[in-house]
Amino acid sequence: MNQQDIIIVGGGAAGFFAAINAKIKNPELKVTILEQSKEVLNKVKISGGGRCNVTHNCFDPKLLTNYYPRGQKELLGPFHVFGAQDTVSWFENHGVKLYIEPDGCMFPVSNSSDTIIQCFLKLATKYSIDIIKNAKVKNIKYQSGEILKFEVDTDEKPYHSRLLMLATGSSPFVWNMLEILGYEIIPPCPSLFTFNLPHHPICELMGLVVKNVKVNIQNSKIITEGPLLITHWGLSGPGVLKASAWGATLLAERNYDFTVYVDWIPNIDDSNIYSLRESMAKKKVTANAQFGLPARLWQFLIEQILTDKEKNWASLSKNEMKDIVIQLKKCAFPVKGKTTFKEEFVTAGGVALHQVNFKNFESKLHPGLFMAGEVLNIDAVTGGFNFQAAWTGGYVAGMQMGKSV
Ligand SMILES: Cc1cc2nc3c(=O)[nH]c(=O)nc-3n(C[C@H](O)[C@H](O)[C@H](O)COP(=O)(O)OP(=O)(O)OC[C@H]3O[C@@H](n4cnc5c(N)ncnc54)[C@H](O)[C@@H]3O)c2cc1C
Repeated sequence: MNQQDIIIVGGGAAGFFAAINAKIKNPELKVTILEQSKEVLNKVKISGGGRCNVTHNCFDPKLLTNYYPRGQKELLGPFHVFGAQDTVSWFENHGVKLYIEPDGCMFPVSNSSDTIIQCFLKLATKYSIDIIKNAKVKNIKYQSGEILKFEVDTDEKPYHSRLLMLATGSSPFVWNMLEILGYEIIPPCPSLFTFNLPHHPICELMGLVVKNVKVNIQNSKIITEGPLLITHWGLSGPGVLKASAWGATLLAERNYDFTVYVDWIPNIDDSNIYSLRESMAKKKVTANAQFGLPARLWQFLIEQILTDKEKNWASLSKNEMKDIVIQLKKCAFPVKGKTTFKEEFVTAGGVALHQVNFKNFESKLHPGLFMAGEVLNIDAVTGGFNFQAAWTGGYVAGMQMGKSV
């Protein structure tokens, strides 16, 4: 019989972090990782364009939670135990130094995700963690009693353990299995995507970046701020990706058919725009970009309203003036469809959070069963926050498992 102290299903970010930290806590334990693929840490490898955005330069637990559309409340406690600062120290203590980019994203100084993978594999060897590849878990059985017992079935053979952790990421197969065991699964839907504007003329400005815009989804409270990138298919950039994360469920319900409003100049009041009629009276409207907007964008926005390119500010009618204000502050775009963001995509949905005790990431239904990472209904905006949730959950669960056996 393959009797283990701890079995961890899923050789990804959360699974490895939990296994290593359980062994650090208690090196005597027998810990096995079961991974369905022929390689472990596949997502870590491709993450951050091959550089792995490990975490974010946000060391205040409360502020850190603001980046999680799902999991915001539940992660506050765990972030006090293992937050972004702890991630930086943990990796540094294990030989991986991180650096901060100007936008706060943190990467290994090697700029290679392989550094993270090698760090984990070395520690797995050091602590004699068994890694079984090509082992897809098909079923789990639970027997309560004085000594907890799990039976974990794979194609090849069953495994038995006292504690079990599911770190299976966004696996519909595992979610179905958990549903049968009585878990509520929030229906999965994509997060972190860009907005398609089929045949919209603004796409001709592809490649253009506006440093800071406000993005608002129509008929919702979703308002995000950040850089916007115009692509050949629509709108992208951090401001848009954030809106896609906060709106993941709502936008799926709307079948990705909705109107988005862009405030191109969020720090400028309407009155500042109206005052241009006097301060710029004799100047042509189209030819003189204002408020730091790129000239090509300014021209595009104004030409949507003024057919006469020669008009100056003083000659604008009341209605034209009003339309310019709307165009700059509440510019409507009809979104039809989404495109996956090339560098990072995550899944919203998963195990409902009320079924997990966030003091230790243990199931409330099956004591001894732990879950962390994307298997839970937790996800974040882009910037290293998704891995941070995996490290935090993996660490807290690992420590708990390490002292529970
Ligand atoms: C292209 C891309 C780039 C990304 N870049 C970043 C980034 O730079 N920064 C960031 O913070 N986030 C990034 N993310 C998100 C991040 O990768 C995930 O949030 C994170 O990997 C989740 O970790 P996890 O351990 O929960 O799941 P995963 O890393 O997905 O690991 C789950 C593992 O479980 C295995 N598994 C599933 N079912 C079974 C089963 N039945 N039996 C055995 N094994 C099973 C899977 O094969 C997988 O190896 C990126 C995502 C993508 C897709």
